[in-house]
Amino acid sequence: MTFSLAIVGRPNVGKSTLFNRLVGRRLALVDDQPGVTRDLREGEGKLGDLRFTVIDTAGLEDATDDSLPGRMRRLTERAVDMADVCLFMIDARTGVTPTDEIFAEILRKRAKHVILAANKAEGAAADAGILEAYALGLGEPLRLSAEHGEGMPDLYTMLQPLA
Ligand code: GDP
Ligand code: MG
Repeated sequence: MTFSLAIVGRPNVGKSTLFNRLVGRRLALVDDQPGVTRDLREGEGKLGDLRFTVIDTAGLEDATDDSLPGRMRRLTERAVDMADVCLFMIDARTGVTPTDEIFAEILRKRAKHVILAANKAEGAAADAGILEAYALGLGEPLRLSAEHGEGMPDLYTMLQPLA
């Protein structure tokens, strides 16, 4: 366990899917339905030769998409404070939403180190969303498909210096 990585972002972008891929066990629930996962989940992440703690911010599922209620903010801040690095995930197919912008602001102020990940990036349907992501002011977005495993070598390259 060399560092800790928190996966943050609004509901349904694919955080638990990435958590499960990194942890390799189905510790976090993945579901299309709201209200399935709760609170924070921790697991032992593995990516190539890297070993690290992964924190999934579950428990955000009952929040609406156009606001950032107190519970979502508090939970995200807790995860950010626990972690050495935050992977901030957006849905590249949906593009940047107002809620994503609030997350970006929290992270710019609070996080030690942020990796911006545009998930669901398999296929051309993601291209417009990836372009929008540059405007979040968090650097170049990492193209990721948590479901299909695309972008994992690039994630490795970004995490490797932290090990
Ligand atoms: P969370 O609420 O952020 O934890 O999101 P989940 O991991 O529960 O995923 C929400 C939905 O997005 C599920 O239906 C996943 O199967 C789907 N999903 C996750 N990653 C990808 C991806 O890379 N591509 C696509 N197309 N769908 C994905
Ligand atoms: Mg989840």
